[in-house]
Amino acid sequence: MSDIWIMRIGHRPERDKRVTTHVALSSRALGAKGIYVDTYDEVLEQNIRSVAERFGGDYSIKTGVRWQDAVRGFQGKVVHLTMYGERVDEALPKIPRDEDIMIIVGAEKVPPEVYQRADFNVSVGNQPHSEIAALAIFLDRFTEGKALYSDRHGKLTVVPNERGKTVVENP
Ligand code: SAM
Repeated sequence: MSDIWIMRIGHRPERDKRVTTHVALSSRALGAKGIYVDTYDEVLEQNIRSVAERFGGDYSIKTGVRWQDAVRGFQGKVVHLTMYGERVDEALPKIPRDEDIMIIVGAEKVPPEVYQRADFNVSVGNQPHSEIAALAIFLDRFTEGKALYSDRHGKLTVVPNERGKTVVENP
């Protein structure tokens, strides 16, 4: 599987703290390699790195990165999630699996240049909802669910359990 990167645009640290945190955590859990966020936010970086350190994997975060700069040197396809885009079921077969992808998600209004630059403008339904939901559904379909229970070799491993909580501390 190729590498999946997220570009989160329109992040406002005082308003979007929780949503952007969940964009990062959900994308990590669903198989992304890392996230770029357009506005510098040191607290957000620390929180995500702390989770990645405890639960493993090599998910990275970099804030204060303009989307134009993130996509400029990117070798792969750019996928922009928007309710105005083509249907996800029709877009998915066209997105190459042997190239990396960068997925752009917005917060408020997304500049028209993003629609022009994207190789694929993809909708997850044609109703307005949330960047977290759109990203989760897209990633689950793109990876065919393979990332959900993959071992990240972290300090802590959560063991699936019918009832109760089983957390193993790894040596
Ligand atoms: N009104 C904004 C606009 O016109 O761009 C969208 C705001 S929405 C709260 C924030 C982000 O969620 C969008 O930029 C998009 O990435 C994602 N999103 C929301 N609904 C979506 C849908 N139905 N399909 C794909 N992405 C969606």
